[in-house]
Amino acid sequence: MKKVFIRTFGCQMNEYDSERMLLLLKDEYVPCAEPKEADLILVNTCSVRQKAEEKVYGLVGRLKHLKRSRPELVIGVCGCVAQQEGEKLLKRLPHVDLVLGPQAVYRLPEALAKVRAGEGPVVDVEFRKGFRQPLVLPEFDGHRPVKAFVTIMQGCDNFCAYCVVPHTRGREVSRPPEEILAEVECLVRQGVREVTLLGQNVNSYGRKEKGFPSFAALLREVASIPGLWRVRFTTSHPKDLDEELMRCFAEVPEVCEHLHLPVQAGSNRVLARMNRRYTREEYLEKVRRLREICPEIALTTDIIVGFPGETDEDFRQTLSLLEEVRYHEIFSFKYSDRPLARSTAFEDKVPEEEKARRLALVHELQNRITREINESYIGRVEEVLVEGPSPGNPELLTGRTRTNHVVNFEGPAGLKGQLVHVLIEGCGQHSLRGRYLETVNPPKGEA
Ligand code: SF4
Repeated sequence: MKKVFIRTFGCQMNEYDSERMLLLLKDEYVPCAEPKEADLILVNTCSVRQKAEEKVYGLVGRLKHLKRSRPELVIGVCGCVAQQEGEKLLKRLPHVDLVLGPQAVYRLPEALAKVRAGEGPVVDVEFRKGFRQPLVLPEFDGHRPVKAFVTIMQGCDNFCAYCVVPHTRGREVSRPPEEILAEVECLVRQGVREVTLLGQNVNSYGRKEKGFPSFAALLREVASIPGLWRVRFTTSHPKDLDEELMRCFAEVPEVCEHLHLPVQAGSNRVLARMNRRYTREEYLEKVRRLREICPEIALTTDIIVGFPGETDEDFRQTLSLLEEVRYHEIFSFKYSDRPLARSTAFEDKVPEEEKARRLALVHELQNRITREINESYIGRVEEVLVEGPSPGNPELLTGRTRTNHVVNFEGPAGLKGQLVHVLIEGCGQHSLRGRYLETVNPPKGEA
C-alpha cells in the first residue's frame, strides 16, 4: 500500500472532509505520520483568517525540497484556500500537483488518476450546480472512537460582510435526511456514542429543499437512533434559531445542553454593517427564551473585535453584552481583511494596535467570567462521556459534560465510551477536575 499524509487546518467541516478523503483513498493508501514517508501529501486548508492562510503557504512551501528529491511524490492543496486561489496558487507553489476546492475533494480519486496519467497539475475549483457530497460511510479499523462529526449541509447563503465561506464553499445545500441517518447509524454500529451535526448554519437545514424535514425534526430523528446517547450541533445563526429548535434542548434527552451561538459584536451599528441580520435586542431575547426553556444550557460564542468602523462606544457594547450573557467560553479574533469578503473594501479600518488592545480587554473579561462559571461547578455531580486517558496526564481520564466542559478525573481503567457520574472537585481556566462515582449508561443501551 502507498502512504498518504494529511494535514488539516481550520474548522470541524474541514476535519470531516479530510476523513472523507482518507476513506475515498482507503483501497490504495494508508495514512502515515510524517510527510517524508508519504507518496501523497494533502493539505486541507482554511482561509477564514489570514493567519491560517499564511500557515498553509509556509507548510506547502517547505515541501518543495521533498518534491525535488522525489518527483513522483504528489502534493495536493485542498479546501478553502484552494478554492479562493485556484490557478494563482500554482504560480506561488509550482511544485503542487492538485488544487481542489471543498466540493472537489469528493472528486479526489479522479483528480489523482489524471496526475498519474501525466495530465497534471489538476485545478478543480468548480461549483457544480446541485452538487451534493456523496455518501461515504465511515470505517474505523480497530479503534473505536467515542464521538464523531457528521456534515448535514454544505455552504452558506448569508454573506456576512467579513466572511469568505459563501465564496469558498458555495451556496447552501442540505444532504438528504436518509443519508445523514444512514451515516449516523453506521457510526453507532462501530461504537460511536455522540455525534455532532455540522453545517455553516444548521438552523436553516432543509429550508431550500422540497420535502426535507426542519433541522429540529432531523435532530429528533437522529436522537432516536438506538445506541446513540448524545447529540450536539454547530453552527447556529442567531437569526434562524427558532422556538421549535429551542424546545429540543428541553424535550429530547439526547440533545446536550450546549449551544454555540455566534454573536460577533454587541453594537447594532456594527451588526448591521456586518450584515448579521439581527439586533442586539433580538439576540438577547433569544438567549432569554432559551434559558427559560432550558435553564441549565451553556452558551458559547464568537467575537470579532475591530471590525471596520467599530468605535470605542461600539466596542464597549460588546463588553457589556459579554457581561450580560455570561458565556461559558468565547472564541475571539481581531478582524482581518479577507480576499472576496465585502468588508475588505470598507475604508474605516481600526489600527492594528487598537484591535490588539480591544482583544486583550475581551480576554481579560471573559477569563474572569469563565473562571466564575467553572468554580460554580465545584461540588456538583456531572454526567461525563469518557473519551479515554487525558492527553495532558495519562493517569487521569478525560471526557465532557453535557454542557461541553472538559473534565479530567481519577477513575478505574476500562471506562472509555461509558457515561459516568463525576464529582467535580476543582477547576482550571479551561477544564474541570473530578472523581469518578458510578457508571450510568442509559437504558437505550447498545446499537
Ligand atoms: S453565517 Fe455568515 S459567518 Fe457564518 S459562514 Fe455564513 S457568511 Fe460566514
